[in-house]
Amino acid sequence: MPSETHEFQAEVKKLLDLMIHSLYSNKDVFLRELISNASDALDRLRFEGLTHTELLPSGEFGIRLTADAEARTLVIEDNGIGMTREELVENLGTIARSGTLEFLRNQDGKDDQSPDLIGQFGVGFYASFMVADQVQVESRKAGEDKSCRWSTDGSGQYTLDDADLDAPGTRITLHLKDVDTEDGIQDYTDEWVVKGIVKRFSDFVSYPIHLTLMKKDEGEDVATPKSEDDPLNSMKAIWTRPASEVTDEEYKEFYTHVTHDHGDPLLRVATALEGTFEARALLYVPGMAPFDLYHREMAHRGIQLYVRRVFIMDECRELMPDYLRFIKGVVDSEDLSLNVSREILQQDRQIQAIRKHLVKKVLQSLAELRRDDEEKYLGFWAQFGPVLKEGLLLFDEKKERILDLVYAASTADDAKLTALDDYVDRMPEDQEAIYFVTGTSRDVLASSPHLEAFKDKGIEVLLLTDPVDEVWLQQMPPEYKGKRFQSVGRGEIDLKDTEDKDEAENKEEEEAYKDLMQAIRSALQEEVKEVRLSSRLKQSPSCLVLEEGDLSPQLEAMLRQAGQEVPDHKPILELNPDHAILKKLQSVFEANGTDSRIPDYAGLLLGQAILAEGGQLPDPAAFTQKLSALMAEAL
Ligand code: ADP
Repeated sequence: MPSETHEFQAEVKKLLDLMIHSLYSNKDVFLRELISNASDALDRLRFEGLTHTELLPSGEFGIRLTADAEARTLVIEDNGIGMTREELVENLGTIARSGTLEFLRNQDGKDDQSPDLIGQFGVGFYASFMVADQVQVESRKAGEDKSCRWSTDGSGQYTLDDADLDAPGTRITLHLKDVDTEDGIQDYTDEWVVKGIVKRFSDFVSYPIHLTLMKKDEGEDVATPKSEDDPLNSMKAIWTRPASEVTDEEYKEFYTHVTHDHGDPLLRVATALEGTFEARALLYVPGMAPFDLYHREMAHRGIQLYVRRVFIMDECRELMPDYLRFIKGVVDSEDLSLNVSREILQQDRQIQAIRKHLVKKVLQSLAELRRDDEEKYLGFWAQFGPVLKEGLLLFDEKKERILDLVYAASTADDAKLTALDDYVDRMPEDQEAIYFVTGTSRDVLASSPHLEAFKDKGIEVLLLTDPVDEVWLQQMPPEYKGKRFQSVGRGEIDLKDTEDKDEAENKEEEEAYKDLMQAIRSALQEEVKEVRLSSRLKQSPSCLVLEEGDLSPQLEAMLRQAGQEVPDHKPILELNPDHAILKKLQSVFEANGTDSRIPDYAGLLLGQAILAEGGQLPDPAAFTQKLSALMAEAL
């Protein structure tokens, strides 16, 4: 094949630019990224080799680093799966990962490059450009005889040529930038520098990493390769070692290895399953939610599955339910067959058992975090709470355990969230239900007319604002600690209270307003299904309520957006019998039952009720016209 020159995808250019001018002080991580890629490539070949033994290399699987101080090059070589010419173009000339792409697109026009960029996205291979001004990748795919060379100086283009690798694998040659300790660039041809980095970042990589130094011995004119027999890394799978022997630093490095996140994890869960099936797991809750948390299909790396220390697959979804999709880490089973396929996994009893154990452990660890360090837990909740609540939609989960972890805003405290169980603890003995209101913003909810009577009586109400809240509270109203959940905007509210009007008074009031209610109802028959007197209003004249079982407007909008047919239903308009407007309207009505102001006021009362719950008026122009007319009249 002739030599070809290609342009990088625009996003790659941007990424390269960020790397070349990186302010990130920890440039040493480039080596970890390349070793990690090599280790992945070896994992993949080892896996392929289970069924296609002819692909396996003649010698041992491994990674070799060759440092040449004089030429100022560092070579990273593996005998893993390799890449074809097309794969080189695909993998190194474009960025496929949605989160990284999204970030780079958002980065447009911003100069303040965040030093955490590398941490957040694991820019992987491109990290080389922090330390090298020319990079060459030669690769040969296992099972093929041709090899190809990809090279670039990091400007806008790269070149493809034929190469002559004599065995499958990948060889990456970095032409190193000058040492610049102030900028964090060390001498990566120095034996001790290289050894130090490998030990620090890649000790647990499960393949041997060997070092060759190009050195002139005394009396020699040219440098010749000198290799040590012992690998630089201990290769101990970190999850097989007793936790007491693993340092926090090692756990953190391993976290970075599996997640490509250079930040600190929020929580670590190490656990072993014993008995009929044996497995070990080392799981993490990331410190920061990834960009694609809500694109379930795209969530990048999740749980890696190993069988007896052999890597089997990335993103093993079967091991973690969707609502815990933010959990990352490794599961190593003792009993599964090395040949497991994704299809088999779906029905495998062992996988079910492992998954059940992991879910229990993760929820338990979160509960412990909550107990021991609530502030940190709230940091977790802010990032992952809405995802965790998706677990409340499932039928097969123990919802109580999830409900124990739920926090929500509340009328009890403007500044702080409250845990659901603390709410229940605070409930007065005669309060029968956990009261809540759902909507899109806490501020709108906090001033909702639905809450007036509750505030008046000092009854605490939870303010739930995640879209998922609409769904779990409505789909199957759950109970928690023996208490049902009751929306303050639904059905009839009966806040038994001795100071309130007694039944006889209520009856009397209803009788008195009966005809007016009828008149308002006929004025609004297109919009509401019922007009009635309210027991939940104190200051506001009107509010809308739903019947138990009706879809809330937010949920309705969500379902429509998702393309579902939603039956039309009308809300109920509740009016405050103690409000001046209603009293005056009653006198107007008594004087003349067909006074034209009655339908106008009815429309305004409805409009107010819609606005008060943050809704949109169906005809804002008509509303303002009516309002202006009435204002003019009143002046
Ligand atoms: P990531 O490893 O996070 O996917 P990279 O940019 O580091 O991202 O690498 C992009 C892709 O290039 C990898 O997913 C892999 O398919 C391929 N690749 C990189 N290094 C190697 C290697 N040493 N051997 C085989 N394939 C590799």
